[in-house]
Amino acid sequence: MDTAELTEEQRMMRQTCRDYVDEVVIPFIRNEWQREWDMDPDSRLPNAILEKADEVGIRTLGVPEEFGGLELDPATEVKTFAIIAEEIARGDSGIADKIIQNWKVAMLLRNLAPKHLQEKWFARLLEDPQFLLAHCLTEPRGASDRWLPYNVPEASMHTRAVRHKDGWLINGRKQFISNGYDAGLFVVYANSNPEVGMLQGTSSFLVPRDTPGLTIARCNETMGCRFMNNGELVFEDMFLPEDHLLAENNALGRAGIYFRPGKIVLAAKNLGVGMRAFELTSDYAQNYIQGGSVLIKHQAVALRLADMATRIEAVRALLDRASRAVDANSPDADTLCNMIKLFASEEIMKVATHAMELHGGNGVMLDFGIEKLFRDAAIFLHMDATVDISKFKIVKSMFPHTAGTYAGSA
Ligand SMILES: Cc1cc2nc3c(=O)[nH]c(=O)nc-3n(C[C@H](O)[C@H](O)[C@H](O)COP(=O)(O)OP(=O)(O)OC[C@H]3O[C@@H](n4cnc5c(N)ncnc54)[C@H](O)[C@@H]3O)c2cc1C
Repeated sequence: MDTAELTEEQRMMRQTCRDYVDEVVIPFIRNEWQREWDMDPDSRLPNAILEKADEVGIRTLGVPEEFGGLELDPATEVKTFAIIAEEIARGDSGIADKIIQNWKVAMLLRNLAPKHLQEKWFARLLEDPQFLLAHCLTEPRGASDRWLPYNVPEASMHTRAVRHKDGWLINGRKQFISNGYDAGLFVVYANSNPEVGMLQGTSSFLVPRDTPGLTIARCNETMGCRFMNNGELVFEDMFLPEDHLLAENNALGRAGIYFRPGKIVLAAKNLGVGMRAFELTSDYAQNYIQGGSVLIKHQAVALRLADMATRIEAVRALLDRASRAVDANSPDADTLCNMIKLFASEEIMKVATHAMELHGGNGVMLDFGIEKLFRDAAIFLHMDATVDISKFKIVKSMFPHTAGTYAGSA
């Protein structure tokens, strides 16, 4: 985006992030590339990375000022999130995932959690640089039905919440959860009325990590974004007091406050991966000599670089349009969010493929750092709905009375 169009706040935040990434994240990724493959998720990422993020004030965005957070201008908040998310992911998309999940869940909590629990958990988040939040929807039976959503009882979540004494009893499991292995606080969705579709029968709850009945079953070893520990959770007769209920029966509708900015920052992170691929590849092409000249003088190489740059600019333009639509709460915001999430994932995958090919053999060597961008880019195709499901959602939102009514949808 043209720097002249940024607000003072956005320019300042971007510079702070850029310095953090250039001085802390990129040197770490370059010098300690083997850490990504440490099979002990607890020691994979040194604590210093999140401590430094905390020092520069980017870890707790989304926390209201009254609870000690740094609140961004609400008129341009989502756009600012996008600018910062891109910068962090330019350094590493797993680290970006870790940090950004905190912003997204904080936005949900500030809208849905009772004041005394906001006070308690925002304080915990602020005092501990390693404290993480997680958002748990996906279950082993598949997430696509929920994303569409197929609003019929048989497509509802299997995780069940039933009223019990002065609260709720939860049984079930969640999978593929970002920060699911190491979060201190989880937002969990469960079926609270099996007679109706999920839009009318899903509730959400606040679940502290030490709640009896909650087990962190495993850390998934992902192909990319590996510094974010993706996890699986099991709930067995897990009791939650009444004040831990965030939304009763209409939780999926009320999560819009999470999903829209969520898709924007997801696409922005994806763009950051593409930017890093372009930075490294354009540098390589102007310095590496093959066939008698630097690579960029070969026309085929120049064409690929032009293709990379054009795709990146197209993603940036649509991202800008979509994030403005969310900030303005415009009627097409949902459609645009799905468009940019899907478009970014496919375009940046092509950018990362060019980057790998232009690096030749070096492109597939772990210690060279290019193949990591390819692996990281691949993860975005599936996050927050697959490419195909995102396309369904676009058409359903554009034609709600025809496409929107097939297969049991509301
Ligand atoms: C790195 C990572 C982080 C994640 N973080 C979180 C998180 O924090 N919280 C969370 O809740 N979830 C999270 N997820 C889950 C993610 O949202 C799901 O993986 C994604 O939505 C796809 O769901 P699924 O894996 O269950 O695939 P499925 O729903 O099983 O789909 C399998 C395939 O079938 C296709 N398909 C399914 N249904 C249909 C249909 N009706 N029509 C056509 N095609 C269909 C899909 O497009 C896909 O190709 C994460 C996933 C990843 C990879």
